[in-house]
Amino acid sequence: MFKLSVIIPAAGSGVRMGSDIPKPFLKVGNRTILEHTISRFLEIPELIEIIIATSKDHISDIHSIFERISGGVILKVVEGGSERQFSIYNALKEISDEATLVGVHDAVRPFIRPKLIIECCNIAEEYGGAVLGVPAKDTIKQVNDKNVIKATPDRSFLWQAQTPQVFQKKLLKKAYESALKSDFIGTDDASLVERIGGEVQMVEGDRENLKITYPVDLKIAELILGTNR
Ligand code: C5P
Repeated sequence: MFKLSVIIPAAGSGVRMGSDIPKPFLKVGNRTILEHTISRFLEIPELIEIIIATSKDHISDIHSIFERISGGVILKVVEGGSERQFSIYNALKEISDEATLVGVHDAVRPFIRPKLIIECCNIAEEYGGAVLGVPAKDTIKQVNDKNVIKATPDRSFLWQAQTPQVFQKKLLKKAYESALKSDFIGTDDASLVERIGGEVQMVEGDRENLKITYPVDLKIAELILGTNR
């Protein structure tokens, strides 16, 4: 049986949202996005700790959210970095020895279903890594630096990667160390693991696992919350 440590990067600036308050601290319904996200993970019996990367200004907000809802799970808070990858690297240094799997989940995906988190954990335990995603619904074009279309990859093999992304602890640590040494920056965690030859399985999730990025996403989030009530 696995023991799960979850890293939640929450140190983004929220430029695309056009808000002074970083996205994880905006409210959907009467709770912050981060509080929704944390509460989904607290439903996982194998969860032993949550490590949140944030900016200095928000450390006390996180402690006060956690005091309300933690239920005995350990909370660690680390300072975020200039890129999502550096925020996660800081958190990785705090993982407890006891953990066998490490999951990474964006603070701004508050509608993750606990049963899908567990599915990713089971698959990561067997293969090394598991990423939640959905089949691409749009045709994806590859362009050059002048926006000329260079390729139209077969859509049946294209997926949109979400989080959580779950990995065996040793594999994820090795991938992050290697990326750091080579100055490689990826846009997700799986890309770092793929880079060192690790096997990562795609796990089919759902489109409710929205990443709140733009103002329109907040409106959609309110609708999802309303229909889930
Ligand atoms: O910027 P992006 O939408 O990729 O952010 C995904 C998640 O990573 C967000 O929860 C954000 O707060 C976090 N992040 C971070 N440190 C950064 C940039 C983003 O923890 N430097």
